[in-house]
Amino acid sequence: MTTKTIKAHLLGYPRVGAKRELKFALESFWRKETTSEDLQKTAAELRKTHWQKQQEAGLAFISSNDFSLYDHVLDHTVLFGAQPKRFAKLPFGEKSISPENAYFALARGNLEQPAMEMTKWLDTNYHYIVPELNDDTQFSINAHDFLSQLDEALALSKNVKSVLLGPVSFLYLSKARGVNKLDFLDNLAEQYAHLLQELHAKKIEWLQIDEPIFALDLDDKWLKAFERAYAHFRTQRPKLLLTTYFANVSRYQAFITQLPIDGIHIDCVRAPEQLGPWVNAIPSYWILSAGIIDGRNIWRTDLDKALALLEPWVQRLGERLWLAPSCSLLHTPVTLAHEVNLDKEIKSWLAFADEKLNELRIITKALNSGVDSVANELAISRAAITARHNSLRVHHLDVKERIKDLVNANENRTNKFEHRQIIQRARLNLPLLPTTTIGSFPQTPDIRASRAAFKKGDISQAKYDADMESHIAYAISQQEEIDLDVLVHGEAERNDMVEFFGEQLAGYVFTQNGWVQSYGSRCVKPPVIFGDVYRPTAMTVDTASFAQSLSKKPVKGMLTGPITMLQWSFVRDDQSREATALQLALAIRDEVDDLQKAGIAIIQIDEPALREGLPLQKSAWAHYLAWAVRAFKLSASVARDDTQIHTHMCYAEFNDILPAIAAMDADVITIETSRSAMELLDAFGEFKYPNEIGPGVYDIHSPRVPSVEAMEKLIKRAIDVVPVKRLWINPDCGLKTRGWNETKLALQNMVNVAKNLRKSIQAL
Ligand code: GLN
Ligand code: ZN
Repeated sequence: MTTKTIKAHLLGYPRVGAKRELKFALESFWRKETTSEDLQKTAAELRKTHWQKQQEAGLAFISSNDFSLYDHVLDHTVLFGAQPKRFAKLPFGEKSISPENAYFALARGNLEQPAMEMTKWLDTNYHYIVPELNDDTQFSINAHDFLSQLDEALALSKNVKSVLLGPVSFLYLSKARGVNKLDFLDNLAEQYAHLLQELHAKKIEWLQIDEPIFALDLDDKWLKAFERAYAHFRTQRPKLLLTTYFANVSRYQAFITQLPIDGIHIDCVRAPEQLGPWVNAIPSYWILSAGIIDGRNIWRTDLDKALALLEPWVQRLGERLWLAPSCSLLHTPVTLAHEVNLDKEIKSWLAFADEKLNELRIITKALNSGVDSVANELAISRAAITARHNSLRVHHLDVKERIKDLVNANENRTNKFEHRQIIQRARLNLPLLPTTTIGSFPQTPDIRASRAAFKKGDISQAKYDADMESHIAYAISQQEEIDLDVLVHGEAERNDMVEFFGEQLAGYVFTQNGWVQSYGSRCVKPPVIFGDVYRPTAMTVDTASFAQSLSKKPVKGMLTGPITMLQWSFVRDDQSREATALQLALAIRDEVDDLQKAGIAIIQIDEPALREGLPLQKSAWAHYLAWAVRAFKLSASVARDDTQIHTHMCYAEFNDILPAIAAMDADVITIETSRSAMELLDAFGEFKYPNEIGPGVYDIHSPRVPSVEAMEKLIKRAIDVVPVKRLWINPDCGLKTRGWNETKLALQNMVNVAKNLRKSIQAL
């Protein structure tokens, strides 16, 4: 048998470390408990570990320059000398990414300058630092740190592939103020060309150049930008592997194949159907890197299926076929090795970054040396896939039946808003411009200590419940004192708005170390939805009833909506997101019903993540919004006419999805507006949003107490665009990160504003 040499590689490895070593090293450095040398040492050790893992998995290359102390896009900003001039006072020496210099100030701000902006990386939950382009921006390469990382890798192996974010994506994903992004293109591409020369001088054979914006809808102008930028890369450079991910990029095929590059990486997990067309389209000297392992999710790969997908093309491509995960493994946790508490069976269905590396090794070996050479590994994998597929822990007939039996009527409230509004007003008897909050009150050290003690087993369930009740009672008494109109219980018992519900729903499991970087040192541990979701018993009724028993005023029942539950979890890959969302919706629906039966008159279903779920391509928006809205309505529509449903959204652009928000038909929406300085409100006004709305009147991110005047100004603006009878008054978002002192002062001011306005309106 001849041995073929299909190569395997990674687009990137998670940076945080299996036990979040990077996070802890960063934070102790920021607290000045450790030196920059300590931090650099940890970082170098992590890089080395990551490369060694790639070597052990037999990858053809180790990938260098995928690491970052904070964010890789920020590293590119610094690499190309484009740190905003507003930070010019700070020292940017040759070692610009060294922590003793200004690097972290860019990401985190300092006494003089706010941090650079941060936003989500495509449709992931990873946040990057947005490059700022002004008329004083100039690009000039400073490759010291980039090359020294590369040297570290070269010391370990001569087969190093370097990783770089491509110039066109870099510009596209930046934010331009008063300038045209594309005016920077030649200057930037020129600097890239210099770097390419340096890599060439170091005999780097391959450069992975990420151009993730091919997942988006690009117009001609941006497509032309690729031609123009890449024209700078004709000589003295490594071979270029253009990487795309998160989408089928076939629609750009005729265009991409004209670029002066040497290969393309495509995502064959999101879009397996593009493999054949690409094999047929690429020039005969190109590499095709097939992303066949899901870099975005945590499930074990069906290796047979992956092999079957590749099978028809293996002969054709021979050595020109490379294998990889679909995207950087940045979006998955590091290893299952430390998951000692995870249910054994469910664990056998999962694969984190290290396990994915192993899968990559197995698939590559199967193709190079025949399936017999990995018969054992394939058998183990097959057994796990089959077990998961058939497991009664995954499939619950009752849930499936219930979904099948849904009819249109289940999605709609019995009567229209106008009718419900009259009935709810009669029941609630609220003043004009009712005041409320978004749900959480300060998570005090006391609350956190109690939770920690309970988790460790130091205090009993009874003691923990009693502690929580006392925090709830405190929150109610404070709100009574402030004289808010609609109260909340304060969410003391919730560590996280998704985790709290996930822990009580069937179909969810939680990992111990399944951390994924969100931004900088911040990591999230998304729960895992492995099976059909349902609600075994009521989740919030006791707490809500207890809180309501303490006040004559209405206390809102607080729930997390189906789309937010979905969006902030690792979801099943064996059914559509839509199917999972509907199951979640039914579970929430059951809770809504139990709450109203227990006498709760107002129920808020939070959907802060609605917008995040929007597909990257506009053509897919309508479909997503249709099922997302349906899921929300399914959870809310069990409410009687006299039960008032609220929803809440924040920190996203909502202007372009207002019709969908209106279609959700919540009786009241409370929405964050401070970021857009009430611009959003104009949009709501113009759109003639039909139901009630509570625009946030103060930013909850600052301990500063907002003045009566400032809030009054905002509400008056609101009154100009939304009929006053449909307006509520509330902060932007939950108050869990605030302290009680400032919270009370702020809310007192807010309530005073409402009272003053009521008087002056009634005097009219
Ligand atoms: N009810 C939640 C809270 O107040 C909402 C949080 C959010 O919008 N992310 O904390
Ligand atoms: Zn919010």
